[in-house]
Amino acid sequence: MEAFFGLPPKVIFCKRCVISNQRPSSTVEFKHTATEKKSVIDFDEEGICSACRFAEQKDQGIDWQG
Ligand SMILES: [Zn+2]
Repeated sequence: MEAFFGLPPKVIFCKRCVISNQRPSSTVEFKHTATEKKSVIDFDEEGICSACRFAEQKDQGIDWQG
């Protein structure tokens, strides 16, 4: 299946924040070309988006008990 505009052909929603993978992550729209794949949010095998993963790692780096 050919995807339009370089977006992933399969729509995935993050299990945590319910963001869609169809939402481009701060891409300058007028700069993208037909051959260049648009930068979108990555999802891991668990269906968690990169934004949530980043927040997770950040949280783990903080000692909340301290
Ligand atoms: Zn998320």
